[in-house]
Amino acid sequence: MKAFYSTKQATHFPEHFLVNGVFQPNPEHPDRLARLAEGASAAGLDVAEPRNHGMGPIAKVHTPEYLAFLKGAYKRWSYIDGASPAVVPDIRPVARDGKYPASVVAQAGYHMSDASSPITGDTWDSICWSAWSAVEAAEAVLAGDQMAYALCRPPGHHAAADIAGGFCYFNNSGIAATHLQSRFPRVAILDVDLHHGNGTQQIFYRRSDVLTVSIHADPERFYPFFWGHANERGEGEGLGYNLNIPLPRQTGDVDYLKALKVALDRVEAFAPDALVVALGIDASIDDPFGGLAVTPDGFRSIGAAIADRAKCPTVIVQEGGYLSETLGLNLTRFLDGMRGA
Ligand SMILES: [Zn+2]
Repeated sequence: MKAFYSTKQATHFPEHFLVNGVFQPNPEHPDRLARLAEGASAAGLDVAEPRNHGMGPIAKVHTPEYLAFLKGAYKRWSYIDGASPAVVPDIRPVARDGKYPASVVAQAGYHMSDASSPITGDTWDSICWSAWSAVEAAEAVLAGDQMAYALCRPPGHHAAADIAGGFCYFNNSGIAATHLQSRFPRVAILDVDLHHGNGTQQIFYRRSDVLTVSIHADPERFYPFFWGHANERGEGEGLGYNLNIPLPRQTGDVDYLKALKVALDRVEAFAPDALVVALGIDASIDDPFGGLAVTPDGFRSIGAAIADRAKCPTVIVQEGGYLSETLGLNLTRFLDGMRGA
């Protein structure tokens, strides 16, 4: 299996995010990239650089307004006297049905759902290369590989078509899925991150050609709060094509694997031509978010269960998973499971 990432994905380094009203060190730290790369190498993957795929594959998922905002916001923000060193929203519209705002301050509120995705001078470059890693992995599978791994950092599954949030800017899993559709029309996205993949859900919510399934800590008292509940099943043509499986906090390996079976039953019933695994490893018992309690052996079992049931070409897209003793090891174990090692 090949793994793709660029060291340019490490330049984005927002120092802070807002927790309970207090600025704290941002856990989406650039060191994640090196740790995860070590984990992929330890699993025996061949690591390669993605090519520059331009904006085409990204623009199939994100709106032109949003792309222009992300690309230009930092420079426009820096013209404001006394502004912070990164773009962070401080006012948000209750509804987004009015005119599109002209001010970069208002656009930040329009396009950012929270204060955890600051835009620095390096953000644009990093998020483009992160998305191109997803495209490159999809290209490998389109060319005949059975599996490929995209080391996407910054992550993507909280980003909707025109909204950043939760450390995410471009929805890398959605971009990979859309890119795969050139040869594989029906794609399932299975999201095993600790947090609900609300951005991915929103992008495909009215569609029946992309199934979205997410297993995550119950959002009743956990990020992203407003989405990820079991009654969100899709809308219109997409009704029945979204499945959320919220889990009680501190769920461990045994109950996680039971939930995964339900998720894989749904994926199998959809009979996809290709699969995208949105791989967050923040469900780890060692992750600083402390939401779920999956062990390294649990990650191997998760990988093995997915590989056993999903017989179609598969792109694994890195989502969350934060600095801890076992970050790299958990990735290695998951990939071992996927490869039957
Ligand atoms: Zn997460």
